[in-house]
Amino acid sequence: MRFEISKVLDAIEGRVCTDPSLARAVLDLAEVIRYQDLDGGRPASLLRLGMVIDALSRELEEDSVPIYAVVHRALLSDADLTSNERMVVRRWADDGLVEVLDNPGDRMLEVADLLGLPVLTRVRFDGLRGRFPWLVEQPGRVLAPVPGAGGPVFVAHVGGGSTPVEGDRSPVGAKLLARQWRCPEPGCALFGGGGGGGAFADLARVERAPAGQPPPALRNGVPTCPRHGARLGDAGPRPRTEVLAVRIGGLVRRRFVLTEEQPVFIGRAPEASGGIVLGQWLNDEARRWISRSHLKLELRVGEVIVTDVSTNGSGIRPHGSMTEAERIPLAPNQSRVLGGADMVELYPGVQVGRARELPTGAPFTPTSVMAEAPTMAMRLPRN
Ligand SMILES: [Zn+2]
Repeated sequence: MRFEISKVLDAIEGRVCTDPSLARAVLDLAEVIRYQDLDGGRPASLLRLGMVIDALSRELEEDSVPIYAVVHRALLSDADLTSNERMVVRRWADDGLVEVLDNPGDRMLEVADLLGLPVLTRVRFDGLRGRFPWLVEQPGRVLAPVPGAGGPVFVAHVGGGSTPVEGDRSPVGAKLLARQWRCPEPGCALFGGGGGGGAFADLARVERAPAGQPPPALRNGVPTCPRHGARLGDAGPRPRTEVLAVRIGGLVRRRFVLTEEQPVFIGRAPEASGGIVLGQWLNDEARRWISRSHLKLELRVGEVIVTDVSTNGSGIRPHGSMTEAERIPLAPNQSRVLGGADMVELYPGVQVGRARELPTGAPFTPTSVMAEAPTMAMRLPRN
């Protein structure tokens, strides 16, 4: 039992991040884990985060959807969580996967404002409508997760819809995210990357890629570390990125960020670090056709370069065209610049392209992060 719960928590861990290019909604972890009506279980449970993430996946009709979690520091020692759950949240905090704050205040709304993300919450923010007009002006920007027949469903605070709606990054957000920032606090998990410290705990920590830094908090107009309250230093322009997605059988299975720092390999099971593993989503035929490493993607001066590194080759679908006559073969070892709406196809129905150009939505359900959950934890209210 304990082992299975750990596996669920690992699956959930793959869905929390503070990367502004990947997160699809913001929530307050301390609030979500106390939605006791979702399962009628313990006063607090980290599994409820998984249930809400699954609901987001279902609504967006996309797999592997990550959320941005703001976490009150008190949660790290909350006696309503199991010791295992507390340990997991501490690990997320240490790795910068979540934002831990002494006083979250309205940080959740600030993140949503800067990044243009929807907010998943039951809290009403009547007093903040002046500062964040989208709270009322954009139906679908704020949704309450509530119990539904097959798990949580969303109800928009305004308009009553159920689909999360993304807005644009605010002008301030766009400005802040054009730079990279450095926190003076040694070992800062959000804006670190240097800073000495030298504690053993830091040795294993992967240095955070500057392209994935969260948005700074603004205090009196000054970019500030939300965790440490310290003024952030400007560490130069943020590296260029491109958000790509893999679509299999019509459903976006995963998004990933391409930077100029290193190429990304995609295939059945690429060995290179940071490779995109497709194996779990492929049928036998596709698995035989697609090489372990099939494609290499690089970002060079803003251009996405795709190189076939497979045995069987790939094809380019210009402007996403599904007309066979227009498919351009990409032979092994051949490279090509991927145009704005172009897709590269590894095998019929297995495509990679820019996330904003790849529509999703297929007649089957995204993979649940809760698939490994013991039935006891999955007990849902009947209706
Ligand atoms: Zn900091």
